[in-house]
Amino acid sequence: MEFKAWFQCINPDCQNRYDLTDIVYRCKKCNELLEVQHDMELLKQRSPEKWKTLFESRYRRNEWPYGSAVWGKRELVCPTVENDNIVSTYEGGTNLFWAERLGHQIGLDDLWVKQCGMAHTGSFKDLGMTVLVSMVKQMIAKGKNIKAVACASTGDTSAALAAYCALADIPAIVFLPKDKVSLTQLIQPITHGVLTLSLDTDFDGCMKLVQEVCQKNDIYLANSMNSLRIEGQKTISFEIVQQFNWKVPDFVIVPGGNLGNVSAIGKGFQMFYDLGLIDKLPRLVCAQAQMADPLYRSFKNGFKTFESIQAKKTLASAIQIGDPVSYKKAIRALQTFDGIVEEASESELANAVGKANKTGLLCCPHTGVALAVLEKLVERGDIKKSDRVVVISTANGLKFTDFLFNYHTNQIEGIQSDHAFSPVELAADYEAVRKAILEKIES
Ligand SMILES: *Cc1c(COP(=O)(O)O)cnc(C)c1O
Ligand SMILES: [Zn+2]
Repeated sequence: MEFKAWFQCINPDCQNRYDLTDIVYRCKKCNELLEVQHDMELLKQRSPEKWKTLFESRYRRNEWPYGSAVWGKRELVCPTVENDNIVSTYEGGTNLFWAERLGHQIGLDDLWVKQCGMAHTGSFKDLGMTVLVSMVKQMIAKGKNIKAVACASTGDTSAALAAYCALADIPAIVFLPKDKVSLTQLIQPITHGVLTLSLDTDFDGCMKLVQEVCQKNDIYLANSMNSLRIEGQKTISFEIVQQFNWKVPDFVIVPGGNLGNVSAIGKGFQMFYDLGLIDKLPRLVCAQAQMADPLYRSFKNGFKTFESIQAKKTLASAIQIGDPVSYKKAIRALQTFDGIVEEASESELANAVGKANKTGLLCCPHTGVALAVLEKLVERGDIKKSDRVVVISTANGLKFTDFLFNYHTNQIEGIQSDHAFSPVELAADYEAVRKAILEKIES
């Protein structure tokens, strides 16, 4: 069987198609976003049971490249890349963590955290970047004139692009907003020898600039308006279903910034549904930081309008985006999945992290946004005690040690850390140590 896929304009009145090896990010006819479409009739020729057996046989094994949870589903992701051109770090297959204790504290029996930050570069961005960089490698191999790959980033896309390009020996350039990413995120592209531009603007400013640079030079754009990345990210949904033994959870909560990932997660569930691998869809929840909440505002007026805003500074720096590229795709997904958009204040997101920390989860502030939103939906009764809920943890908490340290030492301005837990500094003296221990265990 040969499987086919192409770029297609999302405008229902246009639906213009382009080859996956065309250098095109928006429709040339109507300027709308593109998405990857698959030949579903071909894919349906294999039965749901056969697909499941095939995917199970590949999952986390070592036959190149199928052990990667992205490439293990390659027929549904990007069938046109040849194995020799795949640039992979064995991505995906991340832990679906049963957050039993945290769930009980919040009032849930069946809470799970999809640990997408347990990844090669510490965030879910690897899932999409392996597809994009593999396609670039293939295009270069076939003689396309691509001198470099570039992206604007809030810190995680740049880390992923840098690692994958270094792996494939392809030049990369990253555009970062100065002082708006964590130290770890800034160091990642630098260590891989990638040109790292730290610009005196915010993410939206970087995004405008990188688009101009790519358009006027032979540089390939790696932002999520490039829908190849969405194809890799949609495997988050494939994995969740597979990890639950081909069952679908009731709710999936994902923090949203540029809104590529919420669209991708919707696309993944939809595709499994269309192929008959699942028989229901979950409800999708997009969680935004109150400081950068254009989708929440649009949701509040029934998605009748969408207006970009000037995002304000937030601890959830990776979603400090006021002008999200993929908002139309996100709205479409939320409408299909009976979706909800909710937001979290700085204090709510920080304290949600503190609370999770105490149950053994070291999460990033974006995961904190999702957890804070979860609590609101439980309090409101939208989510019931017995519902199976998956929170998408988008990055590894170890990328945000500055935030975690400041939270637990109660040093974040304007925030009362309800779950702070600072180290106790003592003389190296038995009685002093004993007293401190007794105070802790008897409290
Ligand atoms: C990129 C990112 C997000 C947001 O994903 P979008 O696709 O931009 O909505 C959330 N959290 C982290 C840690 C990220 O890196
Ligand atoms: Zn079009």
